[in-house]
Amino acid sequence: MDAILVLNAGSSSLKFQLFGIGGPDGPQALVKGKIDGIGTHPHLRATGPAKTLLVDRDCAPSEVPDLPAATHAMAGWMRETQQVNLVAVGHRVVHGGPDYSQPVRLDEQVLQYLERFIPLAPLHQPHNLEPIRTMIERRPELPQVACFDTAFHRGHSAVADHYAIPERFHAEGVRRYGFHGLSYEYISGRLREVAPDVAGGRIVVAHLGSGASLCALSDGRSIESTLGFTALDGLPMGTRCGQIDPGVILYLIDQKGMTAKEVQDLLYKESGLKGLSGVSNDVRDLLESDDPRAAFALDHFVYRVGLHAGAMAAALDGLDAFVFTAGIGENSPEIRAAIAKRLEWCGAELDPAANAAGKSVISTERSRVRLLVVPTDEELMIVRHTLALL
Ligand code: ADP
Repeated sequence: MDAILVLNAGSSSLKFQLFGIGGPDGPQALVKGKIDGIGTHPHLRATGPAKTLLVDRDCAPSEVPDLPAATHAMAGWMRETQQVNLVAVGHRVVHGGPDYSQPVRLDEQVLQYLERFIPLAPLHQPHNLEPIRTMIERRPELPQVACFDTAFHRGHSAVADHYAIPERFHAEGVRRYGFHGLSYEYISGRLREVAPDVAGGRIVVAHLGSGASLCALSDGRSIESTLGFTALDGLPMGTRCGQIDPGVILYLIDQKGMTAKEVQDLLYKESGLKGLSGVSNDVRDLLESDDPRAAFALDHFVYRVGLHAGAMAAALDGLDAFVFTAGIGENSPEIRAAIAKRLEWCGAELDPAANAAGKSVISTERSRVRLLVVPTDEELMIVRHTLALL
């Protein structure tokens, strides 16, 4: 069977999925896996169709000290266990810069171009690119495709794309890019199947996972995002601060003597739900906790989602539907209900029973805003793009 491998590399993990292609029902997931703890306590885990466990074992740290080694280890395990004919690799790449509004076939030249965006996404881009280099060296004949988290947002108007700082910074790339684009693109397509009567309308999609953002969709296209130049803006997230007055950063540097690296660590790793609650970055832990700070952190999160939803609705001149997706959006009826309450001002009315049952439509019949739960699938989006480019 022909297959496409999808890779999504982070600072200490490599997520991978293998899809069989050529069947009548489109790409089918054969394997879904991850190597995490790269460099410290590497662990390989993978499941097959229907979540059957295929492997779940530690690897020696000396065997998997870094991402290139993890890529080799993953490829070795795949070769031993999967009898497929690999025809291409699709990579998730966070930053496509100002020019890429579509996925691109990778070669050495494109890779060098994408390396120019490392300063724009220093915590993600270098890791995303490492397995590409490894695969290009290992299998130069194998087609590889980069799919960008920024691409779906490249159609934003100039007004939406700018910060109010001197124009020269925009010219050199300081723009409101927006992220989670593969998720929003998938949802946009899926809405045409599950809610065709509203799919062409004014929709806010809430991608609420450990990273979180909102996207305003008009006629299926992104016109605004709560994320901007980096994945720090907008909503508070698991460990990231979300929107913050730049004056706070000046205060931290000027008055507290913090270095840029210390501020970066504070805003990316110690803030958000984790920083506010002092308990956890995980919504499940916060919902279970008796600590009032956990409840406060969730209240803050929900409040900020509501506030930014108002901004997205303003960008759209109204709201026809609000879509919940990703880890929190797909799995937490409590958080969905709390957010829906914040949308009552614009005519949203939750159906509590449908919400508790995890139905895909969770608003009442008379609600003026359709409330939907639509599971996202960024990897499937990458496979489709990779196939389309082949
Ligand atoms: P990512 O892919 O960005 O790591 P996910 O979309 O998988 O994130 O979301 C992970 C988050 O989803 C977890 O940190 C947790 O807060 C939340 N989550 C997952 N399952 C549930 C649940 N049943 N109830 C509440 N929150 C959940």
